[in-house]
Amino acid sequence: MYLIYQGFPFTKKSSSYNRHYWRCVHQKPLNCKAGIVQIVDVNRFKVMKSEHSHPLITERRKPGEFKALMAKQSENLHK
Ligand SMILES: [Zn+2]
Repeated sequence: MYLIYQGFPFTKKSSSYNRHYWRCVHQKPLNCKAGIVQIVDVNRFKVMKSEHSHPLITERRKPGEFKALMAKQSENLHK
């Protein structure tokens, strides 16, 4: 499940009784700190941090691309 804000996709990280916490999907790979809180009762969104540590990435990683990359890396290791 994704939330798109200003073109950036966010993914739900955690929930408390009436709040959902959304973090940028690049939080881990790019150490991005952007986040949004969704207040469920009033159905409102509050931006915690709107700056991203990266530009807007619109290109999606093709399925299998990551696997191929890993295979290539282990190939190199065995040389
Ligand atoms: Zn981000």
